[in-house]
Amino acid sequence: MTQTNPPGADLPEHPDFLWRNPEPKKNYDVVIVGGGGHGLATAHYLVRNHGITNVAVLEKGWLAGGNMARNTTLIRSNYLWDESAAIYEHSLKLWEGLEDDLGYPILFSQRGVLNLAHTEQDVRDSVRRVEANKLNGIDAEWLGPDEVKRICPIINTAEDIRYPVQGATYQPRAGIAKHDYVAWGFGRRVDEAGVDLIQDCEVTGFTVDGDRVTGVRTTRGDIGCGTVALCAAGHTSVLLDQLGVRAPLQSHPLQALVSELLEPVHPTIVMSNAVHVYVSQAHKGELVMGAGVDSYNGYGQRGAFHIIERQMAAAVELFPVFARAHLLRSWAGIVDVTPDASPIVGHTPYENVFVNAGWGTGGFKATPGIGWCFAHTLAHGEPHPYVAPFGLDRFTTGALVDEHGAAAVAH
Ligand SMILES: Cc1cc2nc3c(=O)[nH]c(=O)nc-3n(C[C@H](O)[C@H](O)[C@H](O)COP(=O)(O)OP(=O)(O)OC[C@H]3O[C@@H](n4cnc5c(N)ncnc54)[C@H](O)[C@@H]3O)c2cc1C
Repeated sequence: MTQTNPPGADLPEHPDFLWRNPEPKKNYDVVIVGGGGHGLATAHYLVRNHGITNVAVLEKGWLAGGNMARNTTLIRSNYLWDESAAIYEHSLKLWEGLEDDLGYPILFSQRGVLNLAHTEQDVRDSVRRVEANKLNGIDAEWLGPDEVKRICPIINTAEDIRYPVQGATYQPRAGIAKHDYVAWGFGRRVDEAGVDLIQDCEVTGFTVDGDRVTGVRTTRGDIGCGTVALCAAGHTSVLLDQLGVRAPLQSHPLQALVSELLEPVHPTIVMSNAVHVYVSQAHKGELVMGAGVDSYNGYGQRGAFHIIERQMAAAVELFPVFARAHLLRSWAGIVDVTPDASPIVGHTPYENVFVNAGWGTGGFKATPGIGWCFAHTLAHGEPHPYVAPFGLDRFTTGALVDEHGAAAVAH
């Protein structure tokens, strides 16, 4: 009698862990504070592009359990200003090859994004953005309501609704990825290269010698460092405070929610700043929806109910079929918002401390791009050209990069 193997028996064993769980060493060349996507991507490009491997990523909770685990994974590069276009387009190009680079699936699905226009002013702003994108070599189109309907048939393009759809910008190369796979891919890769990923390790202070930081104090003891890289998203202002550095960062809850699993109904990403909702459909089938930030400051990873209520009202107006979908769960992350809706990257007043923060509601899409540029900044002690316009000094020189229009739903 022939013996048949049970289903799955021929598949390779999945490893119990994708990375080690090491004890912190006494010293590292580079200490990265924050084990989210940005911290992990920075470690990856330190190894890959600069051969720097004596690196620790310190994470106060579990790896990639902050905004990285909570975001809605929209990836696009259709920002207005040249400075933003450069960094986000660099990132999008890296997303397009990331699966091969990491040797790990990230389920990057380039399904396009529609940014809806509901008023004449929206239309003018949107057309301007499309033209600016084209000048920067970014794929962008202006579409009328009928073309919007063709790309996303379930959208309500009736003329008699409260915020009628007057058209949309469209970026076909935009998409979504599986955020936890992205984190695991980076984590596994850098661990293999010898980077120490240290979880349950909160940085609580710094040892300072003049204008240098010689070590970080953590809940797992003191760790000496050559260079410090702050990648703590919504908690960056807390860390800067410990160094006596003031930065114009505010921390807000940002909520998202998902519906139950549905058949494929939503083929692209649809965003609307005016009605405060954006939607995509996850690989498994949930409708993933986000809104603007909760207006108060805080560090609790939950938000207020009225935001969700407004978000759902807007969603049902734009997509009447959603009225039959059930809400499965909602959650929040803590995002760091700046006055011009652009990030802060580069020098601090300390010679060997560099900051990467202020990505607000839109930093997931920047993950590989900023990892690349921040690693360069750390390795050379000078900002990479793509991040040079985003220094902390712009708030004193006045050279702001005002991306409020193109950043995301309201900041
Ligand atoms: C609901 C929601 C939806 C979003 N949607 C999108 C989207 O669709 N597209 C997009 O581009 N962006 C989106 N974002 C924004 C995006 O998630 C963030 O900009 C991005 O994740 C920030 O970088 P990060 O991944 O490093 O942050 P995080 O993952 O938050 O990493 C920072 C880490 O630092 C750790 N940390 C903090 N303090 C300390 C300390 N003292 N010591 C040690 N560790 C510390 C935290 O625990 C955390 O894990 C969204 C965010 C939220 C909350």
